[in-house]
Amino acid sequence: MIDTSLTTPAVKGKPSFEPVIRDAAGRRFRDLRLSLTARCNLSCVYCVPEGAPQPRERFASPATHAERVRRLHERLRQTQVRQTGREPTQYPELPELVRRLREAGIPRIAMTTNGYFLERLAGPLAQAGLESLNVSVEFAPWAYIEEVRASEESS
Ligand code: SF4
Repeated sequence: MIDTSLTTPAVKGKPSFEPVIRDAAGRRFRDLRLSLTARCNLSCVYCVPEGAPQPRERFASPATHAERVRRLHERLRQTQVRQTGREPTQYPELPELVRRLREAGIPRIAMTTNGYFLERLAGPLAQAGLESLNVSVEFAPWAYIEEVRASEESS
């Protein structure tokens, strides 16, 4: 059972980062997981039905998205926002979104990714304020296979 009551002292008093959501055992949930997109650059067989097209999506701008998260954070007081997807690197302006989330006062920003685009994105994301990264290593072989195939095709 999730209690999202806003009458806790953490919300009534001074701003605090004590999370509001708690379960019946009194455990508080510090992570707000946000799915940025239903798209992924990979098509793992256990995730994507065979022949399924990539979903069409209109992405909210970083400013719009950050404002929504700021409002959620104001109510829920999560200490960490974790960006997921399917694959969050498919969001077109990811470093800009991270920067805006920092500006919006999110204490800690994290991301879970398949790691495919990290070589290009890790630096800009770190500069923008991303603090924590989970790479799903079970997907590394897919990236590796792609790399081997690309190098074979170019030789
Ligand atoms: S990398 Fe993850 S999200 Fe992408 S297809 Fe594979 S399991 Fe699904």
